[in-house]
Amino acid sequence: MLENAARDTAVNLARELAGDDGFRAALADLIAFPTDASNPDAPLQDYLSHVAQGFAAMGFTTEGFRADGHPFLLISRIEGDDRPTILGYAHGDTVPGMAGRWAEGRDPWVLSVDATAGRWYGRGIADNKGQMLVNMTAMQAVIAARGSLGFNAHILIEMGEEIGSPGLRKLCEKLKSRLKADLLIASDGPRIDAMTPTLFLGARGGASFRLTLRRRTGGRHSGNFGGALKNPALELAHALASITDVQGALQVKGWLPETIPDAARNALAGLTPAGGEVDADWGAVGLTPAERIHSWNSAEILAFSAGDIAHPVNAIPDMAEALVQLRYVPGIDDDDLGAALRAHLDAHGHGDVIMTELGPRFRASATPVDHPSVGFAAASLARTHGAPPVVLPSLGGSLPNDIFTEVLGIPTIWVPHSYPGCSQHAPDEHLPSALFPQATGLMAGLYWDLGTASTSALGLG
Ligand SMILES: [Zn+2]
Repeated sequence: MLENAARDTAVNLARELAGDDGFRAALADLIAFPTDASNPDAPLQDYLSHVAQGFAAMGFTTEGFRADGHPFLLISRIEGDDRPTILGYAHGDTVPGMAGRWAEGRDPWVLSVDATAGRWYGRGIADNKGQMLVNMTAMQAVIAARGSLGFNAHILIEMGEEIGSPGLRKLCEKLKSRLKADLLIASDGPRIDAMTPTLFLGARGGASFRLTLRRRTGGRHSGNFGGALKNPALELAHALASITDVQGALQVKGWLPETIPDAARNALAGLTPAGGEVDADWGAVGLTPAERIHSWNSAEILAFSAGDIAHPVNAIPDMAEALVQLRYVPGIDDDDLGAALRAHLDAHGHGDVIMTELGPRFRASATPVDHPSVGFAAASLARTHGAPPVVLPSLGGSLPNDIFTEVLGIPTIWVPHSYPGCSQHAPDEHLPSALFPQATGLMAGLYWDLGTASTSALGLG
């Protein structure tokens, strides 16, 4: 009972802290660093120094690193050999601010509050500064309530996630023995919806290909030549159309997983993904929209061009070009994705289409739904929330999850504190203000329980 009361104290304190003006001020401070990763002059190191100060005040040690020219921060708190070790991860970089395109004249680098709508705005609030602050505040509450975390913690913060995480893999390879942990608990990406606690266990991979078909140099009059010359736009359209069937179901051999594991299927039963914005008659036959996003592969044409659509002339274009992207779950041979597309194009009579892969590739990786640590985390969130969380086998989008599962060899559990409508990567990035106390309470409960568990109870011993 004492243990229960102490857990409640930590959870309640976390909620209080996240509902307090101090939290809002701390979040405003983080947002005020214009950490656009695409800007070579962005104050990436200043941001890390600021975060390091905050963690140092909570009794963590901090150390800076550089890899591939990018700064990183490692924050650690070691409490004992007999305790589990949890690795955390966050990124402090953002996409560009897109100043001038935000509603109501909002400045992307200033936290602004819409009290009527109950929303807080700012670049990076959802992706990923606010999520890091939630976890930091939850740790603060646990340390205050217990006097310790109860586990060993390492938190790695990078500043280049939005440009493909340069240096992250290299750094993790270099620090592999130091980052030895039982489990990754990190927060990024969206929940299934704003106020539903959600876990996801990995991320789909992403591979993009440029397809180019050039028949000649310069357009040819469509009347004088039409009917006797190949039209690369039509030919490429046929090539692209062969990648899926007419309902969008993938047709490329080697681009499809064999099956969805039963545990994943069960976890996804009854879920409506993507905020309900789905076309039920699109995609793989026999799968639900949730299965199509979180446990299956999909191909998209991201861009497609031929001729000049703004200034059309009566001519057969000389070339056509398209960008095709595959999102994929673990379970296919991802060294051969390009070869599989090449073979498919050749088999469909499109041997003249030139294919090049565009880097960098995100590789698919995920911890299985039936891993014991997943049940542990889900039970912890259920205890705090009063209802079980949604468990997604994989985020539909991509994250550098494979660095943790493959380079460091640890199971990965993501507890996202954002939602599909947050406008990350667009103007007006925001989160509902009510999400912060709820999420911080959930994390305090989870950290509390991790601090009570033995590694064998986590299925990790
Ligand atoms: Zn992002």
